[in-house]
Amino acid sequence: LNRRLAEFGTTIFAEMSALAVRTGSINLGQGFPDTDGPEEVREAAVRALRDGRGNQYPPGPGVPELRTAIAAHQARRYGLAVDPDTEVLVTAGATEAIAATLLALLEPGDEVVALEPYYDSYAACIAMAGATRVPVTLRPDPEQARFRLDLDELRDAVTDRTRLLLVNTPHNPTGTVLTREELTAIAELAVERDLLVVTDEVYEHLVFDEAEHVPLATLPGMRERTVTIGSAGKTFSFTGWKVGWVTATPGLVTAVRSAKQFLTYVSSGPFQYAVAEALALPDTYFDAFRADMLAKRDLLTAGLAEAGFSVYRPAGTYFVTTDIRPLGESDGFAFCRALPERAGVVAIPNAVFYDHREAGAPFVRFAFCKRTSVLEEAVTRLKALA
Ligand code: PMP
Ligand code: GLN
Repeated sequence: LNRRLAEFGTTIFAEMSALAVRTGSINLGQGFPDTDGPEEVREAAVRALRDGRGNQYPPGPGVPELRTAIAAHQARRYGLAVDPDTEVLVTAGATEAIAATLLALLEPGDEVVALEPYYDSYAACIAMAGATRVPVTLRPDPEQARFRLDLDELRDAVTDRTRLLLVNTPHNPTGTVLTREELTAIAELAVERDLLVVTDEVYEHLVFDEAEHVPLATLPGMRERTVTIGSAGKTFSFTGWKVGWVTATPGLVTAVRSAKQFLTYVSSGPFQYAVAEALALPDTYFDAFRADMLAKRDLLTAGLAEAGFSVYRPAGTYFVTTDIRPLGESDGFAFCRALPERAGVVAIPNAVFYDHREAGAPFVRFAFCKRTSVLEEAVTRLKALA
């Protein structure tokens, strides 16, 4: 393994899911739903397969039906005008979108300012591009019960070598939804320093309570400097289909496609047609999905609090970050390694998402995209920990 990748080892998600299987534990680690998405969308995939749509290489940018549906979705939800022919690129999940974007836009030696904790593939892809990550740590704010972006720290992280800002909202693993004020500050900084912004918005439909998802591309000066990344995996509960996308200006999309064509060329033929239909589902689908996840969030956050964890109630995503110190623990790694044995539950130590490991040490992430009965059983087991 080369020096660029050596530090990354096996992803925490594979490690913890294998641990869950080996120990027969409830897997609240890796973020995937235990109930598949809508029947009608599955039927759409079957129809595409049967009718011979997408069984051979689809077009490089994605099938026109899906590109049109992605553009229509951006217009309908956010009032963003996106040209389906030149401003949309379909990828093998958001994972490939991230990889292709970073490989296309970064020069060796460039710096990428990313919010820490960050989704693990960011660090690996920045490394594969030969660039350097500069993490800006989201700080826990016990008063607001959320993780917060320190705008001064963000500003200080930008240097003459900074090529782009890598943003994720709603944010995995903290569940933070960046506010309009925070995003406006990011946008102003990007304009002032003439930076590109890559924004991972795969949890765009999972925002709760008063929180609002504000796509960075909608803010002044941002449309032309933003690469927006989305995914069907999260919104439609088909994480195995690996259908994601990039929307950006024609120039940026062309650049990303230059990298993408040599990674997978194309993928997910029949599923692209099915996701096109999914994106056109009425608002009732999206509302019901959100309401269902909200109820699950409330169930798990209440249970974790009763079990003695300090809980950062997420405003978005299907993850909840907890602080284990009230349980007399301080090392999330050790805690998560022992948890299957102690409680028959698997969780993720947030420290893996940090360069400043000590800043993430006491935090542990639980996924709540699971059936109610599964969450209830997990809570029962975790309460026995005390
Ligand atoms: N970004 C974030 C923040 C994620 O949590 C995930 C994982 N689900 C991805 C990207 C990857 O998405 P996909 O499964 O579409 O590749
Ligand atoms: N995004 C999911 C998570 O954060 C898992 C994705 C993966 O396994 N790579 O848990």
